Amino acid sequence: MMNMEHKLAVIVRRIGGKAGYDVSVRDPEATVEDYLAVLDRAILELPLDRGRAPGRGSCAGCDRCCAERLPLTWIDCLNLKTAVAPEAGLADFLAAYAHVLVDGPAVDIILAAGADGSCCLLDHQTRTCRTYHARPLVCRTFICCPSTTRARRLRAVLTNRGEDELVRQWLLDARRSRQPPLIHEGSSPRPRLGDWPPTPFAGCSAYREVALRAVCPPDLWRALTAGSTFAH
Ligand code: SF4
Ligand code: SF4
Repeated sequence: MMNMEHKLAVIVRRIGGKAGYDVSVRDPEATVEDYLAVLDRAILELPLDRGRAPGRGSCAGCDRCCAERLPLTWIDCLNLKTAVAPEAGLADFLAAYAHVLVDGPAVDIILAAGADGSCCLLDHQTRTCRTYHARPLVCRTFICCPSTTRARRLRAVLTNRGEDELVRQWLLDARRSRQPPLIHEGSSPRPRLGDWPPTPFAGCSAYREVALRAVCPPDLWRALTAGSTFAH
């Protein structure tokens, strides 16, 4: 079995008869960027069974997961803005590249899709990502293979808390500019800043600044660090 270790380990596991993966934290100081870096390598190098593209040895050159719901985090927006619209403010970036859905108090901010339903950042000629090195966390952490519960929970927690911070920043931006927040699609929209308290992503502008431990609920942190030598 091939594994990858650093501050985190990505471990190949047989799950339901397929080669899937597990994630384990080996260093209490591990950051979100450490997690993303080890998964970046796993995507390219680990022998995982890719359910949507059977027989593929890696994700390179495949776009079969580029037409999903793609929730954005606050740091995703900063990275993407630098890559595709460095002069734009947050509202202008979201207007051009995102889709903001508001249903009552609930808010979802996702990457915009083109007419064919695929991501607006997909190059239709080459079928590759136009912003591969700045692609969102949800893209950097998806492999179409089985994974363990703790690996799935970690990905979901980071995506959700990172998106919560983006919603907070979207509302703060609207307040600063004294404009109503940009909404592409709404049903009785009533978003309130008070519903979106600061998250561990607040004040951070890069994933290396966010400690995994700060984002994980205690039970998930215990599960991710089970068997590690450092004290919980
Ligand atoms: S994870 Fe996405 S890019 Fe990778 S093989 Fe599966 S469908 Fe293709
Ligand atoms: S950002 Fe890139 S990798 Fe992610 S869905 Fe869009 S084209 Fe695919």
